[in-house]
Amino acid sequence: MKNSAVRLSDLRTGGKPLLARALSQLEAFPNAPESLDLLDVAYKEPRAQVIGFTGPPGVGKSTLLGALIAAYRTRGDSIGVIAVDPSSRRSGGSLLGDRVRIAGAPGDDGLFVRSMAARERLGGLAPMTVAAMVLMRAIYDRVIIETVGVGQSETEVEKVADTVVFCVQPASGDSLQFMKAGIVEIPDVAVVTKSDLGASARRAAADLKGALSLVPRPDCGWNVPVLAVSAIQGEGVEALCEALGRHLAWLVETGALSKARERQAEEWLRAALTDRFGHEGLRLLEPITLPDGTSPFSAIRSLSEKVRVSRAE
Ligand code: GDP
Repeated sequence: MKNSAVRLSDLRTGGKPLLARALSQLEAFPNAPESLDLLDVAYKEPRAQVIGFTGPPGVGKSTLLGALIAAYRTRGDSIGVIAVDPSSRRSGGSLLGDRVRIAGAPGDDGLFVRSMAARERLGGLAPMTVAAMVLMRAIYDRVIIETVGVGQSETEVEKVADTVVFCVQPASGDSLQFMKAGIVEIPDVAVVTKSDLGASARRAAADLKGALSLVPRPDCGWNVPVLAVSAIQGEGVEALCEALGRHLAWLVETGALSKARERQAEEWLRAALTDRFGHEGLRLLEPITLPDGTSPFSAIRSLSEKVRVSRAE
């Protein structure tokens, strides 16, 4: 199979089959100049808010995402979904990719879903997740990345998302566990699902608020809202859309958005360089920084060349 160049402008108008093919090309030839060129352009033209959704299996993420996607589509927002499916069998709930695919109208070009296998190496996120996110971020109004709350994926989603939504369900004791695991430091928006369950949902919300209030957040100025949502009854979904919009506005106003994206880009670059050249190769390049506005997908080429030259000397 040969890699062929595809332009971002074509992908923006070309419909889902073209994007699916482009993502497969990126996956098959991650280091090819054509792949890096495309990602380079996409990196410089972000459109979407990238929303990470995390929580344990069975908590109701996929049902909630179905409702959230429907709400966004009603508003006219286009959505790209990356469903990070765990390589191990899930202990409950269903695979988001399957659900959303069923829910999304096949002819709807405003909703695109891509499933990716999780990998141990990047702590639960597929190595391709960043590349797919960058490409989809340049095409859609919102990109949603769903990860299952097993292992490290909750913390990893922070590395690809602008806004992290963390879901717990009533009567699960989850909020306490997450507090212990330090995971409450991560969310920008916290959701108690299945609020139709009544008192137990209200208790979970109070627990979660308590847990969040104990965590000092370095980027203070944003108070993590705790929302009670019933996807099945459609309650709280609009409030969730609104909270996500407010978080994006806050990120933009404070300049936190571009800073966080630069941090993510540097992380990707380090991970990609370590993949290629090992820790020893990475050391040759330290300190690695991305000058303002530089895409990691162009930087990796020049840095790779530098490692080759210094190894040859
Ligand atoms: P996931 O594994 O986190 O994606 O969870 P699912 O969306 O597959 O939901 C797990 C179970 O919770 C299913 O049986 C759903 O029907 C149920 N569920 C999801 N949302 C709600 C809700 O708003 N209220 C109630 N009562 N049940 C829900």
